[in-house]
This record gives sequence, structure tokens and C-alpha cells, in this order.
Amino acid sequence: MTAVSPRSTPATDGVDDLFWQASYSPISESDAELERVARSAELPVLLVALAAALDDPSILSEELRPPLTPMDTAPVPHGGMTPQQQERAIDVALAGLKRLRDEGITGVGVLSDERRLELLGFLSGGRDEWADMLSHELALAPAHGGKPDWRVEEVAPDREFPVLVVGAGVGGVAAAYRIAQTGLPYVHIEAGEDLGGTWAKNTYPGVRLDTPTFGYSYSFAQRGDWPHQFAEGGEIADYLNEVVDRAGLRDAIEFDTRLSRLRWDDADGVWEATTIDRDGVEKVRRFAAVVSGLGLLDRPHIPEFEGASRFHGDTMHSQEWDHGVDLTGKNVVVIGTGASAYQIVPAIVDQVGSLTVFQRSAPWMLPAPNYHDEVGEVFTWLVDKVPHFAQWFRLWVILTGIEGRAHTVTVEDDWDGAPLSISRKNQELRDYLTSRIEEQLESRPDLLRIAIPGYPPGAKRMLRDNGVWARALLDPKTTVVTSGIARFTETEIIDGEGVGHPADVVIYATGFRPSEFLEAIEVTGRGGVSLHQFWAGNARAYNGITVPGFPNLFLIYGPNVGGVVQGSLHFMIERAAEFAVKSIREVLDRGATGIDVRPEALDRFVDYVDARSRRMAWGQPYVRTWYQNASGRVTAIWPYTNIEYWELTERVDPTDHEFLP
Ligand code: NAP
Repeated sequence: MTAVSPRSTPATDGVDDLFWQASYSPISESDAELERVARSAELPVLLVALAAALDDPSILSEELRPPLTPMDTAPVPHGGMTPQQQERAIDVALAGLKRLRDEGITGVGVLSDERRLELLGFLSGGRDEWADMLSHELALAPAHGGKPDWRVEEVAPDREFPVLVVGAGVGGVAAAYRIAQTGLPYVHIEAGEDLGGTWAKNTYPGVRLDTPTFGYSYSFAQRGDWPHQFAEGGEIADYLNEVVDRAGLRDAIEFDTRLSRLRWDDADGVWEATTIDRDGVEKVRRFAAVVSGLGLLDRPHIPEFEGASRFHGDTMHSQEWDHGVDLTGKNVVVIGTGASAYQIVPAIVDQVGSLTVFQRSAPWMLPAPNYHDEVGEVFTWLVDKVPHFAQWFRLWVILTGIEGRAHTVTVEDDWDGAPLSISRKNQELRDYLTSRIEEQLESRPDLLRIAIPGYPPGAKRMLRDNGVWARALLDPKTTVVTSGIARFTETEIIDGEGVGHPADVVIYATGFRPSEFLEAIEVTGRGGVSLHQFWAGNARAYNGITVPGFPNLFLIYGPNVGGVVQGSLHFMIERAAEFAVKSIREVLDRGATGIDVRPEALDRFVDYVDARSRRMAWGQPYVRTWYQNASGRVTAIWPYTNIEYWELTERVDPTDHEFLP
């Protein structure tokens, strides 16, 4: 092999990616080793990464386009390419890898617009209508992401417009990043002593992502060297800390500072915010706008059980794990079988003396044999040596998640399988997942009898199954109780059949109160109207972001923006932050004090999301899930794709808004 001089440094003007890598390790592997790489790689991703790096779209011939076969449980390898397509793609990829090596290419610059569309068209199987949304996620696209195209000193140099950003979790950090890019002065408060939101608070044993890591990062911080396919909780907390440090956002964060009250001052057109610091000292400050990055799943739900206060042992909610409590050899009771319990139970079963799991409803589990795996050796090689492979892979995860698994949880008219299934496809999924549970628990008919959920797959959040849950239930130390909790005594939990279960430690894995948005904050808007009275237990926000009567208040993770079977949450959160920034720009351009969404625009949005949720498994009247509020309306979920949200948040429609003088 002859040594070659690297190409000149590619153009990277306008890149908005804190993890942008200009140069990658040169390839020195033999042809045989490169063939092994090509044979193990996710082919559409490798092809498109090579086409970008080599600046050669001819690699992406029409015959190699992935059909994007919909995923029923897990992503279909290679987007469903046929075996013939795969063989051909391996040849093409191998030739590309050799060229990368032989031409000494170690970097790739921002794509031309034409190239961007060609490459996205290939990956999306020709779905050109996805191109704009996908470009937002493509670090190599010109003007990718939601970086504001303005700075306050250019558009309103004489205007004082301080912004309050509340919370330093995934939402608040996204908001602070975008606000900082405008040059607007802002104060960023965080109630806790660490940033990271849910990932700082949830430190229970076993905590990790249960969605693929590569779909769980910001478009403006596309980390490539993630160690796990489903990141551990601490890895995400570290990532968020690194994002904040790389972006220079840390110094602006006031930790241990809790927002208690927001009052819109009609006369001055500003928000008066009351905060309380760690010493209980109140501070009142005035802001032109408030951006809330408060999370949905951070207010623990601890059910009231008779006698609970008499209990002598330790108790803790999953989110408030007490690491000072040693579970070794103890009688441990876990209440709940949702996503948190599902991670805790397998993580502690070997340590405890006995484990009693109180199950009210069994979870559906999607097969995920790689759930606890590190990323593979070939993947690591590709991330290291093929320019921007990781970013293309991230894009691929987001792209294949656009439609995701929605087709498996959508109602079929006249289907008569309710309440167990909602469509033929949903019934097929039910049968398949049931057969997996049967395989896992066949030795224990008593467990099998209670392990098959009595609701349709997708009605509640589905969990990732690599066998550890079933193994934990099968452990002789474990008892699963389905008769409910009658009462606590000092030392036992008495179940619904009167049987006592010894308890040294009780773990409440009983979830959160996700429909109580901004619960602990007293918010009064125009004319002194209370936000919580306006909502009356039914939180609603236009695009999930704004509420009529509450000008210049933007919710980043508001009602109806969470995704469960499709879409990227980071995308939704970023778009909300961008919508807030665009709204502020409108206010500045008009010399207005505020922007207030019109009630009819909110009603239209609510009708829009409700209509779709009624067609989904979680919207059925016989289903109870945390996606719904107390009256059964779905307030947690965005039931469409990321594409519709892209369109809704692309511009601030003046006809939907009133501008306050
Ligand atoms: P959850 O899904 O709401 O589960 C709560 C569990 O407690 C359910 O099994 C529920 O039973 C049970 N429960 C509630 N009240 C009860 C009562 N009074 N008596 C007996 N059982 C009761 O909460 P979670 O497990 O904390 O998860 C919440 C969400 O957080 C997840 O859906 C997910 O979005 C997120 N999360 C994500 C991850 C991750 O990505 N790694 C991990 C954990 C959590 P029913 O099902 O019958 O209501």
C-alpha cells in the first residue's frame, strides 16, 4: 500500500455540533480486514457515509436503496435490503473503504445542498418529504439543526429582553443552548445540585436507556463514541455535563434554585419570577420571557397504603434511591412492574435475601438481546475511521424511528379483539410476544398465568427484553404477588389475600405524576388567571409549547410531545426550544412586549392530537396508562411522526397569535 497525503481540510463553516470531529484515524487495514468490516456493518449507513466521505454519490445506486421495511419489534437490519442487495452493497462498500484508505481520506466537510438531498433520498428510500426534518438532524447538512439565524444585537440592539430558563435537564439544556446562540441575556436555574434532570436523579441499580443510545442525543452535540447500545444512566448524565461544558453554559446555571411562582405583570408586560435558593431565601426577578425545561417524569407518585407510616424498614422511590441502604441479604419488596422496576429487579435479585414484586399489570416486552451490550468492535472501528459514520448512524436511527412501530399499535376499524388487541397487526404482535413469554416461563405455570398482559401491546410503554427480567422472576428468592397490597405492618406487607411478606426495604417503583405539568409552581398569567385553574387537571398547550393567556411562556417538554413508538424525543424538545426562540424573534421584530397564542389555535391543536390518540392503543377507553391524565385524556404523547411536528413548528403563524403592544 502506498502512503498518500491527506486531502485538504474539508470545509466546515457553519457547523453546529459540539462533538464535530474534523479528522478521523487513517485506515491501514488489509483488504481482507476491510471485507470483514463491510460484512458486519449496517449497510445503508456505511454506503452513505462512504458516499459523503468520497464525495461520490454514484455509490448509492438505485438498486441498493433500502426499502425501509417497517419494524414490528426491533429495527430490521439494513433497512430490509434483500440478500442480493446486501451482497452487492458489501462489494460497493468494500471498494469504498479501500478508496478511503488508499486516498488517505480522514475527514469530510459540509455537504452541498444537492449532495445532501441525494444522500438523504437514498437513505429514506426516496421519501423526499422527510428531507427537511432529516437535515435538521444531519450534522453534515448546510445549516443543519435549529441554530437561530439572528443575534439580538442585530435585530434589537436597544431592547432589554432577559430570559429565564428553568431546569437543567435534557429540555433546559437544549433551551439554554439556543437562547445563548441568540445573544439574549438569560438566567438558568436548576432546583437540584447537579444538572442532567432525570439522569442526575435516577441512580437506581440497573438504570439505563431503554431506547437506542444513538437516537438519544442532541442534533447539536452528536457524540460518536458511546460505549453502550443502550446507554447506562451515568453515561447520559456525563454526556449532558460534557455538552454544557463544551457549550460554555455551566457558569450561567444557578444550582439549588427552585422556581416557586410566576406572575405576568400586565402593566409592564414581563414575568415576575420568584425563586428559592438552598437556604430558603426568596428572590424576585423580572424576565421578558420564561422557558420551562421542567420534566414530565420527575414528580414521584407514592401511593398511600394503610399502615405505611408504621413500617419500620427503609422505603424509597425509584427516583430517590438511597445508596446508604445496603440491600445485601435483606427482604426487599418492589412495588410496580413499569420501566423502573423492570431495571431494578434484575439488578438487585442476586444481592437480596428475598424479593417480593407487587405486580398490578404485567409489562409487554420487546426482544432486545443486545440490551446490555457494548457497541461492537466493528462499529467502534467504523466510528473511529469512517468520517462521520457515527453521525450517519444516529441519523439512521432517527430516520427509521420516524414511522417506528406505529403501525403495530394503530386501531383497525371493526376489529373485534378488544380489550386484548386493537388490530390484526397488534394481535400478531401480541401472539409473538406472548410466545416469547411462554418460552421464558414454561417451567413455572404459576408465573406464566400472571405474566401475559391483559391489554394490547403498546397501550403502555413496552420494555426491552434480553431475558434478565424472566430470570429474576424465576429466581427462587422471588415471589410475584398480584393480589394487591392490603396494608403495611411494622415488618411486613400484607397482600390482598391476607398473606404477609417480610420486608426490610420497600422500593416504590410506582412511577410519576406526569399529567401534573408545572405542578409545584404557582403561575398567573394575563388578568391574573391561574394556569392550573385554566388547565383544571387537563394540561393543554399549543404545539405542546404555549398556553393562551400566558404570553412569552414556553414549555419545552409540555403536554403531548413525548414519543413512545416512534420519533426522537430530543428532536421534539429541540424543536420546542427553537419555536420559543422564533417566537421571541417575532416579538422583537414587532417591538411588541409579548406573543400570546389564541385560544382557538390551542383548541385546534388539542383536537388534532386527540383525534390521533383515539386511534392508538393507548387512547382506548379500557386502557389505563400514565400517558393519560386523571380523566383519561392522553396528555403525555405525541401521536404523530416527527415530520408533522417539524411542520407545525417550522414557523410562528401570526394568525394563531396575538401580539401584545
Ligand atoms: P410506571 O411506568 O408508571 O410504572 C409504575 C408501576 O407501578 C406500574 O407497574 C404500576 O402498575 C405500578 N403502580 C402504580 N401505582 C400502584 C399502586 N397503587 N399499587 C400497585 N402498583 C402500582 O413508572 P416507571 O416504571 O417509573 O416508569 C415511568 C416512565 O419513566 C417510563 O414509562 C419511561 O417513560 C420512563 N423510564 C424510562 C427508563 C429508561 O429509558 N431507561 C427507565 C425508567 C423509566 P400499573 O401498570 O398497573 O399502573
